Amino acid sequence: MSDNKQVELDKLRHSAAHLLAAAVSELYPDAKRTIGPAIESGFYYDFDFGDTKITDADLPKIEKKMRQLITTWKNFERHELSVDDVKTEFSHNEYKLELINEFSSEGQTLTVYQSGDFRDLCRGGHIDEPNKVLKFFKLTKLAGAYWRGDEKNKMLTRIYGTAFATQEELDHYLWLQEEAKKRDHRKLGRELDLFSFSDYVGSGMPLYSPKGALVRRLLNGYVEELQSRQGYLQVHTPQIAKAELFKKSGHYDKYKEDMFRVVSNYSDEEFFLKPMNCPQHTQIYASQARSYRDLPLRLTDFAMLYRDEKPGELNGLARVRSFSTDDAHIFCREDQVDAEVDMAVALTKEIMEAFGFKYRYRLSTRDPQHPEKYLGDPKVWDKLEKWAVTIMERNNIPYYEGPGEAAFYGPKMDLMATDALGREWQLSTVQIDMVQPERFELEYTAEDGTKKRPVMIHRAILGSSERAMMVLLEHYSGAFPLWLSPVQLMLLPISETELSYAQEIAKSLSRAGLRVEVDESNRTLGKKMVRARELKIPYMAILGKAEAENKTITIKNRAGEQITLTLDETIAKLTQEVLSKV
Ligand SMILES: [Zn+2]
Ligand SMILES: [Zn+2]
Repeated sequence: MSDNKQVELDKLRHSAAHLLAAAVSELYPDAKRTIGPAIESGFYYDFDFGDTKITDADLPKIEKKMRQLITTWKNFERHELSVDDVKTEFSHNEYKLELINEFSSEGQTLTVYQSGDFRDLCRGGHIDEPNKVLKFFKLTKLAGAYWRGDEKNKMLTRIYGTAFATQEELDHYLWLQEEAKKRDHRKLGRELDLFSFSDYVGSGMPLYSPKGALVRRLLNGYVEELQSRQGYLQVHTPQIAKAELFKKSGHYDKYKEDMFRVVSNYSDEEFFLKPMNCPQHTQIYASQARSYRDLPLRLTDFAMLYRDEKPGELNGLARVRSFSTDDAHIFCREDQVDAEVDMAVALTKEIMEAFGFKYRYRLSTRDPQHPEKYLGDPKVWDKLEKWAVTIMERNNIPYYEGPGEAAFYGPKMDLMATDALGREWQLSTVQIDMVQPERFELEYTAEDGTKKRPVMIHRAILGSSERAMMVLLEHYSGAFPLWLSPVQLMLLPISETELSYAQEIAKSLSRAGLRVEVDESNRTLGKKMVRARELKIPYMAILGKAEAENKTITIKNRAGEQITLTLDETIAKLTQEVLSKV
């Protein structure tokens, strides 16, 4: 969306928040209004309803009142008031008084905006002619929210809504919300028996069931296969490391709050669970003398990583405390960086296309307001930030700037993939790093015999397996492509008579490397089919008398198209589909 369009949309939504407050004030005269901004998905307004309980069932009534009131709102009239006058006007509302005191102490001009009969303390930013423009809105949900986001304060009632310039945009948004609910990975993960969480194990630490673990292995295996073609070498590193490692890397100073501390029973030594593989990989590099001829050295590692996320922010597979990534570190000469990054970018392209993701990169740069957050020479940062732009341009990749999103040791190129619902997710990243090699004093012997520093490229393709699992589950709505489906073909014998035939061909299909299950239950055929569909299995085969006699298989895909084949033909067809990853 263009900046201009976004500004207009924000004005529309902020105006809708006024309208919501007006409707609530009419229906619940004792409710105290607090604040109501526009947000990415629409707008909200926080109220203190006192002892009155508000539920979702009240939203239609409030929305109806909004539609009545809007007809009388011809404009937003700006009134500049003295501190005393504003305080008098809002004397009954301690929340507004707190804001008024704060704004006036900052020397701000205090303004009240009036639309229809409704007045609210506000700095401005509304649409003209609200009665004509503000038509396509909807209240969406209720939530609790602490006053000013501080849990020591009173819990308020937040009413969320959304508004758009057209009915079509509103309808599309509401459809997306419904669709996203159906595709929620937490729901699908349970229904398809892929992963779960246990209170005994702890929140944010997913447990993969056999089927989920299989999908995870298949994803990592795919990346591993493509990487080995590009000369990556897999390494294996421990889950914990001494604090010294992270002091040297800078994580101890800049990242400690996100790391789990580990203590030994036998010493006072401080250890940490590793939040990333980079520092360990520098030590593998440093374990041997390296010559310019040995470079590039491409190390890859699927080790588990741990980050101490705030418990309140943990959310399904979207925000976890234990995860692993398809992480790699390339140690190379500076003149090799371009070729290496281009190769990594090409690998990413291949994988994104296999999943049907459109994507762009976010060039994550320094926060100009907070230079103290970053390690290393600002001149090197300048160089690396410019370098990222030339990489994007050279590879014809769409990109945008993300100030303040850089890692503490260098700028990043973050891959943002768009899923089937048009939602954007950050998956993986590429970083050119000159800080870590410097801190760990890594070196190689150059052609002229001098010692030089290698450059370290941090690179992931799919990113974390957890996030990839979440995004793919929601992208495919649980209906994975054949190669990624835990069960590829469900055999449905019509009766007990065909059971031995089903078991016989299941054996042959498994031997051919296909993942097959026989529904041996005594459910009716209809129920067996419903179950196979619910489990989102790509193919089902109904085995009746004719199939058993003719030694054929009638397979049916998810779209309901069916075809009768011999066993060998079935194996050939499915194997081909698995290989081509369709
Ligand atoms: Zn306003
Ligand atoms: Zn790294």
